[in-house]
Amino acid sequence: MRSFDSFPRVSLGVFPTPIQKLKNISEALGINVYVKRDDLTGLGLGGNKVRKLEYLLADAARQGARVVFTTGGAQSNHAMLTAAAAGKMGMKPILILKKRGVTELLGNRLLESLMGTEVVFMDTDDYADIYAEMDRVGRKLGVPYYKIPCGGSNALGSLGYVSCAAEIREQGIRFDHLVCAEGSGGTMAGLALGAKLFLPGARVHGMMVDTDPFDKITPALMREAAALLEADVAVNPDDFILHDMCGPGYARPSAEGNEAISMMASLEGLFLDPVYTGKAFAGLVRLAREGQFRKTDNVLFLHSGGAGGLFAGL
Ligand SMILES: *Cc1c(COP(=O)(O)O)cnc(C)c1O
Repeated sequence: MRSFDSFPRVSLGVFPTPIQKLKNISEALGINVYVKRDDLTGLGLGGNKVRKLEYLLADAARQGARVVFTTGGAQSNHAMLTAAAAGKMGMKPILILKKRGVTELLGNRLLESLMGTEVVFMDTDDYADIYAEMDRVGRKLGVPYYKIPCGGSNALGSLGYVSCAAEIREQGIRFDHLVCAEGSGGTMAGLALGAKLFLPGARVHGMMVDTDPFDKITPALMREAAALLEADVAVNPDDFILHDMCGPGYARPSAEGNEAISMMASLEGLFLDPVYTGKAFAGLVRLAREGQFRKTDNVLFLHSGGAGGLFAGL
């Protein structure tokens, strides 16, 4: 297997992120709940996309890109963080966002306006239209450009979470379960592959906050990331467990998610967001209440960020 160091990577964040025990939540749920503080990755308002961008923007720089395109919904944390990271590296970000969700200058849109980011909205539900538009705009600009897919979720971006699993192992606590949100898939795929390689015995739970076919997306991304790493592992359907936590729809708050946000805020003073982490933590709470964990289990919740979305008025 190739080492992570053999891939170009830029330092954008602060790692390792802390692992903390959530004492009050552990008591309330009757299990040992820990949080991996990837809301503290150290760029923008933190979040999971920083780990992916360390690999993706290193690749962009290596290719001599002057412009970096990415996409997502109007309140995409990924798009905002890509703009922050690209700007920091001296490349010009251009965001071509789906005209879906809160487009006003609130939440992540407000942060983009503070950075002076160029944002274009496209009234489409199909990302293929957006990638075609990136090529059209890129060719017109006539400078080398780099396209980052929605969520940074390709094999290279997923390496950020394969290496996160190695980081978790280094931090010394043995976990029986890892729980994360699944939105575009790269985080979960990376973590599931990483757990296979570095955290034997840990079950990985993906809390789906969108309706895409993650049963196909996740193993496909895991296989691509394993190929990139030249890791000799067979990806199996039981390498991860998916749970539907989407509720009324992507980026539409759910009652269960809102309850989980209040629980985390009031008991632990940590803020989850309504689109990803609130729904993902609600999935953990549901499994605990259903008795799916043993009393002695150590459960690690990945706090993947999302603070910008809290102020979008969802
Ligand atoms: C993007 C995002 C996720 C989901 O990660 P994917 O790799 O897209 O599945 C989870 N939490 C937050 C806060 C995010 O911004």
